[in-house]
Amino acid sequence: MAEALSDDIESNSSNPISVQVNYPGPKHDIQYPLNIQYCGECSLPLEYCEYGADPERCREWLERTLPDLLNQMQASGNANDDKSGEKKRQTRGGKGMPKGKKKFEAQRIVLNKQQRKGNKFVTIIQGLASNEVDIELARKFFAQKFSCGCSKSGDDELTIQGDVVSELIDLLPDKWNQINPELIEDKS
Ligand SMILES: [Zn+2]
Repeated sequence: MAEALSDDIESNSSNPISVQVNYPGPKHDIQYPLNIQYCGECSLPLEYCEYGADPERCREWLERTLPDLLNQMQASGNANDDKSGEKKRQTRGGKGMPKGKKKFEAQRIVLNKQQRKGNKFVTIIQGLASNEVDIELARKFFAQKFSCGCSKSGDDELTIQGDVVSELIDLLPDKWNQINPELIEDKS
């Protein structure tokens, strides 16, 4: 068995077979990762950027957004054995993968409470408009939700009659899912 095997290997090595692999897509000067990473410029997987409208802009986007990945791509292009590099890259990705669309970035929302006559409080919300919330719709929503007065008290500020700060902390990210609950600041 072992002898036969070594004979095989010997005969193979004396007749080396050269396998030429012709990849249809990638250019010589650009190396692509095998995991699917979408381009923020043309929204195609990075492998297809060269077929997009403006590959140069895609490249610039990659340089700007994922310089590490670009470095890896360039580094693996110089290495003969690409396999280990591919494996490493595949374990990355996941959470950090950029979407094709630009993602909205949640802004800070400040909740405050002020005492008015006697034991009456008002709740002041700042930052809804900068979180892409229609302030007029929000005003009506709060008035209905809390069955109380709610008025616009500034460019990006609503005042609700009563102390509803703790309710708002849960309600805001529920009602508007672009609001990041970690960015709600309770100053009351
Ligand atoms: Zn692209």
